[in-house]
Formats: sequence, C-alpha cells, structure tokens
Amino acid sequence: MDSFDFSEAWSIPQAPTGYKSGFIGIVGRPNVGKSTLMNQLVGQKIAITSPVAQTTRNRLQGILTTPEAQLIFVDTPGIHKPHHQLGEVLVRNARIAIDSVDVILFVVDGSQPAGGGDRFIIDLLSRTENPVILGINKIDQQADDSQQLDRTYEELVAPYQWQIVKFSALAKEGLDQLLQLLVTHLEPGPYYYPPDLVTDQPERFIMGELIREQILLLTREEVPHSVAVTIDRVEEDTTITRVLATIHVERDSQKGILIGKGGTMLKAIGSAAREQMQKLIAGKVYLELFVKVQPKWRQSRFRLSELGYRVEE
Ligand code: GDP
Ligand code: MG
Repeated sequence: MDSFDFSEAWSIPQAPTGYKSGFIGIVGRPNVGKSTLMNQLVGQKIAITSPVAQTTRNRLQGILTTPEAQLIFVDTPGIHKPHHQLGEVLVRNARIAIDSVDVILFVVDGSQPAGGGDRFIIDLLSRTENPVILGINKIDQQADDSQQLDRTYEELVAPYQWQIVKFSALAKEGLDQLLQLLVTHLEPGPYYYPPDLVTDQPERFIMGELIREQILLLTREEVPHSVAVTIDRVEEDTTITRVLATIHVERDSQKGILIGKGGTMLKAIGSAAREQMQKLIAGKVYLELFVKVQPKWRQSRFRLSELGYRVEE
C-alpha cells in the first residue's frame, strides 16, 4: 500500500448525486471475528486478529469506498461484563459506539451456540434506535448442525425483528450480500474520508498494534492483556524507517517472558513485527524494542490515556 501522510491536508472530492455513506458499528463478543471481518471488507489488514480473545482495545475505523457508497466500519472492543477499570472503559466505549453510528452489525460465532455473552450484548442493543443486523459468522466452521446453531441466535433476536445475514469472514463467503444489505440501510451522504483511505488511524497506531499482535501470538497466555505498546519515535530516512517502541507490562515476571532466554523472545517478536511493518509502509524498517514495567497501569485511567487509549467521558 502507499503510505499516507496525515499532516497533509485532505482534499476530499465531492460525492456523485445519490451517493450513500455512513458509519457501521461492528459489535460482538470477543473472538467472534469482528476484526477479521473488517480487514476483509476494507481489503487490508488494519485491525489485529488473534486466537486470543479481546485483542482490539481502541476504536478503529476501517473505510470501504465503492462506486455507490462509502462505509466506515467502527471496530469496537469485544463487549463483556467489566472486571476491572479497563473492562469498564471498554464497555463504555462500546455503548458510545452503539449510539454514534448509523447501523449496527452484531457479529456472532455461528460455530458455537448462543451464550450469556451474546445475551448481554443483545440487552445493550435492544435499547438503541439504530437498525441492527445480526451477522452469523464462521459458517465455514459449522458442521451438519448448522441449522440448530443458527436457531439459538435466531430465537434470541426474534423479539426485535433484526435482519439476519450469514457469512464467513475468513473464507470470504457471503460478504457481498452483507455489503449490499448494509448499503440499503445507509442514507445519501458525502465522502467522509478521501476515497483512497482505508483507515482513520495514523500509521504509528497500526505499528503499535502490529507489535502487540506478535506479542499475543508468540507468548500466548503467558503475557496476558496487561500489555500495551507505545511508538516512541519514527525516523524516516531515504532508505530505511527507524522505529523505537516500548512494550509496557505490569510485572517483572512478564518482562522476563517477553525478553526470553538471552533475548530470544524479544528478538522473535521484533523480527515478526518488523516484517509486518515493512508491508504497511512498503519500505525497509529497523525496529528497536524496549520493555518497561509499569505496575497496575490497567487500574489507572490516567495511564490508559497516557498510553494512547481513548478514554471517553
Ligand atoms: P474479534 O475478537 O471479534 O475481533 O475476533 P478476530 O477477528 O480477532 O478473530 C478471532 C479468531 O477467529 C481468529 O483466530 C480468526 O482467524 C477466527 N475467525 C474469524 N472469522 C472466521 C471465520 O469466518 N471462520 C473461521 N473458521 N474462523 C474465523
Ligand atoms: Mg478484534
């Protein structure tokens, strides 16, 4: 992809008459495939995905511009009952997201029956005046009991008469129908973003997310979600981009795991993340990683915003 420079003023062309546009909130339990879906829809990896639940923390917008409509997807953090300060921030952000968009796409994991987590979200969504679409994802993973699995969701949402669409984000099945359905719910509107932009997030944020993704993939459960990444410096040279980043953890033991024996883990994280970053900026990257212990950062709203998380009032 071409790298985009946010310091340059955007000049946004005028949309043709009858053009539609709007914001689509993607909500759902952790791990149902929200980020995967958004990446597939915008055609580029902008949200991190992983088999470990709850990887998306911040609100991230993915933009898809077609000849008939501009769809701006808002990938919300997985909604779940709050257990600590970070969890409450996540739920509050999700609530705001639900009311500040034009359409809600409620994504569920069709390879499993509906559960309490889904009910919690349906309860949240039942209070919004926005149209809600139930998206049953992972149909590629449904065995012969697909109808039975679907029914567990259909029964839960029946009282609200939400439209239902089935797809597989990973296998790219049913995504065209999903897009068509979403567009029918949009009003005529302008280009909110330049047509060639796929995300509203600056590259720095995405770089941090690429590092966090490798941490989650390579350390698995050993370093839980008490990890945050800040990009401290980006220096662009004619031949190479130097990136200095800090990984913030809560405990010394986590720092030990992240660094690994003789620094092997940190090296592995760094080289995998560097490869992803090179794709992002389409150029050579030199990445230097530091690990810093910041006790209890999750409890502190101040630290959350200091680390770049949007803490909304
Ligand atoms: P999120 O937490 O809702 O954003 O979920 P992710 O997008 O991070 O996906 C969680 C896991 O589900 C990842 O391992 C994905 O590869 C997987 N996944 C997502 N969509 C599909 C799908 O359509 N089919 C299958 N089989 N797996 C999927
Ligand atoms: Mg996600």
